[in-house]
Amino acid sequence: MRKTVVDMPPFYVMEVMERAQELERQGRSIIHLEVGEPDFPTPSCITQAAAKAIRDGETYYTSSVGLLELREAIAEHFLEKYGVSVSSDQVIVTGGSSPGLLITFSALLEEGDEVIISSPHYSCYPNFVTFLGCTPTFVKVSEHDGFQYNPEAIKEKIGPRTKAIVINSPGNPTGQVLDADAISRIATLGPTIVSDEIYHGLVYKGKEHSILEFTEDAFVVSGFSKQFAMTGWRLGYVIAPKRYVRLLQKLVQNFFIAANTISQWAGIAALKEAASDVQRMANIFDKRRKLMIQRLRKMGFGIAVEPNGAFYVLANAKRFTNDSLKFSSKLLENTGVGTAPGIDFGKNAEGYIRFSYANSIENISEGMDRIEEYLKTNAENRPET
Ligand code: PMP
Repeated sequence: MRKTVVDMPPFYVMEVMERAQELERQGRSIIHLEVGEPDFPTPSCITQAAAKAIRDGETYYTSSVGLLELREAIAEHFLEKYGVSVSSDQVIVTGGSSPGLLITFSALLEEGDEVIISSPHYSCYPNFVTFLGCTPTFVKVSEHDGFQYNPEAIKEKIGPRTKAIVINSPGNPTGQVLDADAISRIATLGPTIVSDEIYHGLVYKGKEHSILEFTEDAFVVSGFSKQFAMTGWRLGYVIAPKRYVRLLQKLVQNFFIAANTISQWAGIAALKEAASDVQRMANIFDKRRKLMIQRLRKMGFGIAVEPNGAFYVLANAKRFTNDSLKFSSKLLENTGVGTAPGIDFGKNAEGYIRFSYANSIENISEGMDRIEEYLKTNAENRPET
C-alpha cells in the first residue's frame, strides 16, 4: 500500500455529507449547510446544448486537451472579463478543477519541493502536495485581516525548495476576495503561482482578479462547477505557461484520455450564453449570504470581516467549542443540520465552523432556527458570560 495514500486524511466535508445522507435515508429531516455545491439546477441554455450534443452524436473522445471550440471560448472569456490575452493553446480542459489541480502539481513539482498554502485553506491542497512526495508550508491568515494573505508573511516562508504558492480567491472556506494589490505583490515573490479561480463569478462586493492580470508565469485552475451550477458535469480547465502544456497534455492522455465530450459542449454554451443566469444566481446567493451572516452573529458566532465571495461563511465558534469535528457532529446528530468542521481546512481553522449558503432561504432559516434552539437548550454550549 502506498504510504502517502494510507496517511492521506479523508475529506471531512464529504464524510459529514455521507453521514447526513445516511440519516436522511433513516427518515430524518436534514438541512445541508455542509456541501460546497449550488442547489440551483444547471441553467437550461447549458442543458439544452448538452442535449443537442447527444442528439448530434457527439459521443466520441475529444482531443486530450479538449475541444478547440471550448478552449477558444475560454481564451475569449479571459480577454473579455480580465483583459488578458491567452492563447487557446495554453488551455487544457479537464474533468473538473480537481484533476486540473492534480495535473498542475504533477507537472510542476519534483519530490522534496515545498508549496506555500494559506491556513485555513481548501482541504485538498496539502493532500495533492503530500501525495507527490512534497511538503506544504502553511502561512497563517487571520479572521481579523479578513483571512487575507500577507505577502510579507509569505516571503518569510520562501526557501530554496519553494516551488509554488497557491492562491484561491474568492476562497474556500473563508469566502474572502484577495485585493489586486496583494495578488500583484504575491506574483512578484518568485515561486510559480497556482491560482484556483473556481469561485470567480460569485463575488458580491469588490471584484475578483485573475492571476494572469499580473503575471504570465502562473497556472490558472478553474472550472464550471460553482458559478454555472455544474458540479455533476465534471468540467474544468488549466491555463498554463506554454512550456508546461506538453507535460499537462501527456498527463491527461495517460490518466484521463479527455474530459467528457457532452459536458464540453455544455461548457461552450455556459461561457457564451449563461452570463445572465450567473448574475441571477449570484444575486440570490448574496441575499442568502446577508441572512446567514446576520443569523450567525446573533447566535454568538464570530464573523470579524464579512465574506464577499463564493458561498461560505467561516464562523468563529470558539465560544462554543474547541473541537470543531465534535461540534459539527453534535449539530448533525442533534439538529439534523450539516456543517463543515473547521479542522478540515487546517489546524488554524480549529474552533471554526464553515456554513455554506448554497441552499434556499427557507432551508437556511430553518437550519439557523434549529442551531439557535440547540445552543439555547444545551447548557454546555451556552456562551460564558
Ligand atoms: N477548488 C476549490 C477551492 C473548491 O472548493 C472545489 C470544490 N469544492 C474544487 C477546487 C473542486 O471542484 P471541481 O472538481 O468540482 O471543479
